[in-house]
Amino acid sequence: METVRSSLISYPHGFSTRNGGVSEGIFSSLNLGMNRGDDPENVKENYRRFLSSCKIKTDRFVCGEQVHGNTVLIVNSKDARMPYGYQTLFNADGYVTSDKEVPLVIFTADCIPLLMADEKAGVIAAVHSGWRGTVLDIEKNAIEKMTLLGASAENIKACIGPAIGKCCFEVGNDVIEEVEALLKNSASTFYKKKENGKYMLDLKGVLKKCLIGNGITEDHIEIIKDCTMCMPQKYWSHRFTGGERGSQAAVIEIPGTPRSLPPLFAG
Ligand SMILES: [Zn+2]
Repeated sequence: METVRSSLISYPHGFSTRNGGVSEGIFSSLNLGMNRGDDPENVKENYRRFLSSCKIKTDRFVCGEQVHGNTVLIVNSKDARMPYGYQTLFNADGYVTSDKEVPLVIFTADCIPLLMADEKAGVIAAVHSGWRGTVLDIEKNAIEKMTLLGASAENIKACIGPAIGKCCFEVGNDVIEEVEALLKNSASTFYKKKENGKYMLDLKGVLKKCLIGNGITEDHIEIIKDCTMCMPQKYWSHRFTGGERGSQAAVIEIPGTPRSLPPLFAG
């Protein structure tokens, strides 16, 4: 297991790689995607290993179907009931909570996994920020929801996890136009035009600029430099594999004793 960690966040958390699991074939070996056709028992064992490597004790967590939107949901202990089945609880690309021992999980395989924590207020977020979510300002929604739960932007620490880098992220003019609209025509330092008319985009840099624009202090932002597409032995990359792949997961939780759970089928 070679779980990647932020040096800024002390809460239990981690970004998975593709190594250290039990899945086989195109899912070899640490696939944490639940709806990609892998054997559910293998996925369950992969989660056991990954969560344990993150010092997370519970086997229930919050996750859902990601839709490349900008919806961020505030969740609590009764939402942490994912039993490794294939049912979908939510359609969202980000989760925020102030409840203890409620792991928030998002999936990626080139898109950016963003973890945030205000450890003074006890509020966390996990966000799936591909280019679509990024230009829809999903991180802004996440920070706003964290603030509703008592977080302060100046105390939030953010880690931009392993994702496709500017070395590999080729995009068309349509994406560049949306990035320019997001950054009010000040995005030119984040991309380079190529001879083929396409652009190489530094999406991690764009996301960092957005975080700063929403009040996060620059020294509270960490970027994991690994590029998922450059490192296919270490990470799942959608572009490198052409979609024949498993998924990374990023997880974070607030440690402590959880609130007592209400009955699953109350009333
Ligand atoms: Zn690369």
